[in-house]
Amino acid sequence: MQGVAVFGSTGSIGQSTLDLIGLHPERFRAEVLTAHRQVEPMLRDCERFKPRWVVMTDPDAAQTLQLRLREASWGGHINVLAGPQGLVTAAVVPEVDMMVAGIVGAAGLASVLAAARAGKKILLANKEALVMAGPLMVQAARLGGATVIPVDSEHNAIFQCLGENYRCFQPPAGVRRLLLTASGGPFRSWEKARMFSASVSEAIAHPNWSMGRKISVDSATMMNKGLELIEAHWLFSLPESAIEVVVHPQSVVHSMVEFDDGSTLAQLGSPDMRTPIACAMSWPSRIHAPVKALDWQSAQRLDFEPPDTERFPSLALARASLRTGGAAPAVLNAANEIAVEAFLNERIRFGEIFGAVEGTLAQLSHQAANTPASVDELLEIDRQARDIAQARVAKIAG
Ligand code: NDP
Ligand code: MG
Repeated sequence: MQGVAVFGSTGSIGQSTLDLIGLHPERFRAEVLTAHRQVEPMLRDCERFKPRWVVMTDPDAAQTLQLRLREASWGGHINVLAGPQGLVTAAVVPEVDMMVAGIVGAAGLASVLAAARAGKKILLANKEALVMAGPLMVQAARLGGATVIPVDSEHNAIFQCLGENYRCFQPPAGVRRLLLTASGGPFRSWEKARMFSASVSEAIAHPNWSMGRKISVDSATMMNKGLELIEAHWLFSLPESAIEVVVHPQSVVHSMVEFDDGSTLAQLGSPDMRTPIACAMSWPSRIHAPVKALDWQSAQRLDFEPPDTERFPSLALARASLRTGGAAPAVLNAANEIAVEAFLNERIRFGEIFGAVEGTLAQLSHQAANTPASVDELLEIDRQARDIAQARVAKIAG
């Protein structure tokens, strides 16, 4: 029996994880659930899974949950923690063998680092943590003896192609290139002008995947692929030049590895995150996941095309930030989080996200080139980047 901590349990990744835990009660027990402020869904999952620990990072939500649990006949043994510090505490409790890191954005970083230092098995969905703090994460995992298994579908696909003996953060033997597939998002074939003023509902209507709002917008800007490029760089310890992006609109091939001998291995499946999560939970064995099988009885097409770097400048921004190194990827991530939030709140237009991110990177290029030696230094540059991005957003919003 393995104790699982589901970080971001009310979100899209969290709910898929709980689905799998519910299907395999003989193998997994949800010991920790965390959310930001959604009390009702958290209560429902508490009743079903009876975790030992629950964290609500919003203090009011934590208080409400605490009261509601006291009223419930079944809630007496559940400990409620509040605030971001609660996440760090819950990441290292002894009941937890594996953490599913499903918080969105920089808010997930501290708990992932804590779990790494504590030597937990980390099933990583929260790519922003690795983008911000790649070197610190690698170091923490090494020192703590933690195992990281990627959940992001592309990285999980690559991980599967690299075979059972592969461990993340090591350069894989005999690999020439990684090929990250991208759906191209909802605006793959839109004219630039139309895309510029696309609405929030158009941007979050992903053609193949059902995901949280932030990552859905990232898919529409293709910044998701930019973040994934950086994620792949750290996970697989390969240079930016050995990682390519291929647009594949069907989202059936989840990514590929090209080896030195010319072989290319791919992992295929329906676009359903329960496959990579199940794979990561049971690796290297396999468990059942209730995912629709691919249908080979009807005609199928798998299309591939190069990304349009003119309409989607995110990939070039991500590559440039990796070449700059230091804190540049953290600046990219912070500026993107602010710009996407401003778009979701209808303060700026879709096409203005790119300029806000690029401008922030340019303005901080000097400071960003230094490698943060500690989490505090990293958080300081993250804060500066957020301030600058906010100012840019305010200017754009007029
Ligand atoms: P969602 O928006 O669906 O869920 C986010 C979760 O994080 C919720 O539980 C939310 O709690 C919690 N949360 C939000 N803000 C904070 C905060 N400030 N502090 C603590 N917790 C917070 O996101 P997704 O599940 O879509 O994505 C999660 C991560 O996984 C992201 O990093 C994303 O890039 C990655 N990912 C997601 C995929 C997907 O298919 N969804 C695919 C690949 C990667 P509450 O509900 O209370 O707000
Ligand atoms: Mg992905």
